[in-house]
Amino acid sequence: MNNDKKPNYNFVWFYAALLGIILLFNAFLVPNFEKKKTTEVGYGTFVQMLKNKEVSSVDIKENKISFKTNKKDDKNMYITGKMEDPNLVEELEKSGAKYGKEIPSENTPIFYFIMSWVLPFLIIWMIGRFLIKNMSKKMGSGGGMMSFGKSNAKLYVKSTGVSFSDVAGQDEAKEALTEIVDFLHAPEKYTSIGAKMPKGALLVGPPGTGKTLLAQAVAGEAKVPFFSISGSEFVEMFVGMGASRVRDLFKQAKEKAPCIVFIDEIDAIGKKRDTNFGGNDEREQTLNQLLSEMDGFEDGIGIVILAATNRPDSLDNALLRPGRFDRRIPVELPDLKGRESILEVHSKNIKKSDDIDFNQVARATSGASGAELANIVNEAALRAVRLGRSTVMQEDLEESVETVIAGYQRKGAVINEKEKRIVAYHEVGHALVAAAGKHSAPVHKITIIPRTSGALGYTLQVEKDEKFLMTKDEALDNITTYTGGRAAEELIFNTKTSGASNDIEMATKIARSMVTRFGMDDNFGMVALETVNNRYLGGDTSLACSPETSSIIDKTVIEIVKNCHERAINILRENEEKLHEISEYLLKNETITGEEFMDILESKYIITSNPNSETEAKENTVEEEQNNEEEKSI
Ligand code: ADP
Ligand code: MG
Ligand code: ZN
Repeated sequence: MNNDKKPNYNFVWFYAALLGIILLFNAFLVPNFEKKKTTEVGYGTFVQMLKNKEVSSVDIKENKISFKTNKKDDKNMYITGKMEDPNLVEELEKSGAKYGKEIPSENTPIFYFIMSWVLPFLIIWMIGRFLIKNMSKKMGSGGGMMSFGKSNAKLYVKSTGVSFSDVAGQDEAKEALTEIVDFLHAPEKYTSIGAKMPKGALLVGPPGTGKTLLAQAVAGEAKVPFFSISGSEFVEMFVGMGASRVRDLFKQAKEKAPCIVFIDEIDAIGKKRDTNFGGNDEREQTLNQLLSEMDGFEDGIGIVILAATNRPDSLDNALLRPGRFDRRIPVELPDLKGRESILEVHSKNIKKSDDIDFNQVARATSGASGAELANIVNEAALRAVRLGRSTVMQEDLEESVETVIAGYQRKGAVINEKEKRIVAYHEVGHALVAAAGKHSAPVHKITIIPRTSGALGYTLQVEKDEKFLMTKDEALDNITTYTGGRAAEELIFNTKTSGASNDIEMATKIARSMVTRFGMDDNFGMVALETVNNRYLGGDTSLACSPETSSIIDKTVIEIVKNCHERAINILRENEEKLHEISEYLLKNETITGEEFMDILESKYIITSNPNSETEAKENTVEEEQNNEEEKSI
């Protein structure tokens, strides 16, 4: 079947509407013109009126006579049938009426023609113009009426100018894509041996990890044209538009093969087709068109389809079967080394001073995506310019990490002394408890400078190296650290502030995961009580257990957090002197570094053992084996 000859249903509707309007005009409006002004009378009446000299003008036509009366208030036109009446002229003469074969009437055939045929066309044309104008504004492409549902826009770029070296980290993804590049270079190598290249590959990962960038890099490396379209472009389109857009895309791609066709955010059109709600016709049509296009071109023609998504589990199975997107390439958040090299790639063209330590920045940004790291580098450069420097220094980078995490400093914010005290003790509470935890990351910085995010202060912990696992002890230490802020408030000020809300949220989250997903509670053991829904987008969970179990989970979670909280209070109580000392220092300086913190702490420091922990706590300062950066903000 030739897809290009498929009838365009938009046009069918268009013509049907046009016809309807014309018929309407002819059936009602035009006859009404005549009806309003004409009255039929008998020939006898006409003759009688002539005799009474009531007629002003007479118009004799082929088969009827129309006339007007001379009564002032009667503007009607009268008509009567024409008779073979030899006396007519005589009667007319006598009546004194004007008469003739024809009176020029304003209602000529031309007038009727215009009214019934030209006017509807004109109206429709104007409505059409208006709609198309609006629509093309939405689609961002021009086009007249005849491009209804078609895009004349050029959908491709000859060369993306991006290469694999622009994509830092992501070595596994690059390796998987190298084969595709090779295939586009020399398809014969593959076809001659009888191998079929995968038609499509799906790049899967969280937002900002470089999926779009990788697709561009494949096209750039292979030096082939790059067609791209985003799933979200199909949203809000007229019925049938999405499908014809896909048709267009593949038609152009076939002409330009070998090439890459990239469908970004494919989940917008590739969602599972379900019958529950009657489905979404437009999206399904678009998806069906995409599927049939993918089947429609032969292997070896040299078109490789790449698609990107961060919601792989919502994709329709038909998309994922062999012969379509049968390759799945994970594009995960960068690890320590990846982050370091992303920072390097993005600061290639930036003037740096010698003190720059990307490793340190990378350690402080665990969990950051490539896009966020690129942003950090740029923020640092902007800060250097603001401060009138010509090179970017380490402090710019560190400050911009904090800017990205917690927002800009609110220099002008006025916080009263009492609140400032509470904030200082709260943060030092976190820091002291973290230092006591054998498994907590070292404190890197404590600050009580308010941020635009609403944080009034925070404690930054930076891990020594990347960590991929979390042990039960580490989880408990993390929770204890989160409760440290509130513990200080209670211990010193005998109060509870709203500043701990974020800490509470985080502590609960960890405790809950321990029970429901990590199997760290002995009562439940290795039972999955919760499932993660969308691991690339926030990773919210849904409960997979009975209401009774759920209430036991709640009790267990409360118990865990409570124990950690008590432990935090004990740690602070035993180190109350240090708490005062460091807090006063912080109040004076607003920001203290990890080293300063450790210097004050250095002397006798007592650590309380964790009641939940299986490990013996010992007298110690800060332990080495921490990884993830954590931030406890009030
Ligand atoms: P995604 O499509 O996965 O959401 P993008 O490819 O659009 O993310 O990435 C956005 C920006 O982030 C890129 O333009 C690039 O500047 C930066 N970026 C992301 N990942 C990387 C990476 N691995 N290497 C270099 N830059 C990256
Ligand atoms: Mg993208
Ligand atoms: Zn806090």
